[in-house]
Amino acid sequence: MLRIKGLLTAIICTIFLSQTGTAEAAILKRENLEKTGIVYWDKRSNEKLAALTFDDGPHPKYTKQILNILKDESVKATFFPIGSKLAKYSGIAERIALEGHEIGNHTMNHVYLYHTKKEEMKLEILQAEEQIRALQPLGPKYFRPPGGILDWQAFHIAAKEGYKIIMWSWNQDPEDWSAPGSQVIASRVIKNIQNGDIILLHDGGGNRKQTVSALKMIIPALKKKGYRFVTVSEMLNAK
Ligand SMILES: [Zn+2]
Repeated sequence: MLRIKGLLTAIICTIFLSQTGTAEAAILKRENLEKTGIVYWDKRSNEKLAALTFDDGPHPKYTKQILNILKDESVKATFFPIGSKLAKYSGIAERIALEGHEIGNHTMNHVYLYHTKKEEMKLEILQAEEQIRALQPLGPKYFRPPGGILDWQAFHIAAKEGYKIIMWSWNQDPEDWSAPGSQVIASRVIKNIQNGDIILLHDGGGNRKQTVSALKMIIPALKKKGYRFVTVSEMLNAK
């Protein structure tokens, strides 16, 4: 099921398409972006793999709770924290890296890139990169644009800086940020699961109590369905 945020992103991308030239417009179509090998929404295969991703942290309370659950379940995930918060909550940031999770770039201040001039956007990415490099010196370099809004400029800058752009599966935005209830969040993920899904959840940006509770349901339920949780790197490297 195509969820609303996926639709919104598609609409916003379309707006950018109409404002840009024909060549740029062509490349912003999902199928064309996927062909570049730079942008991913998911990675379909015969293997039952799922990648959990957490945006907008670290949060002093919820990120720790999420890390505890992941540790108990022996699951590795991928975090897209905000650069300024990595600096502020450096202890939690170090724990994310030490416990074997991956860290991607979600800008320094969570700026919506369509509001941002090219130089500022580049700085937002590079400042966050500096924070991440201290934790994860060998990479990988993954970028997720705030709000999932990928316009030509953001694509171009991130690609030029050597990033792969990691969106999320359109069937895997359970909208945990809108606090629909932990049961609802969990059942949206579990019911919609497909091989190679990249699941969007949030450890920061607000009260994430429901996300934490939902995660306790999601992991065992998907394991029971035969799914193996992988980092984004493991997902992309899978055959
Ligand atoms: Zn975000």
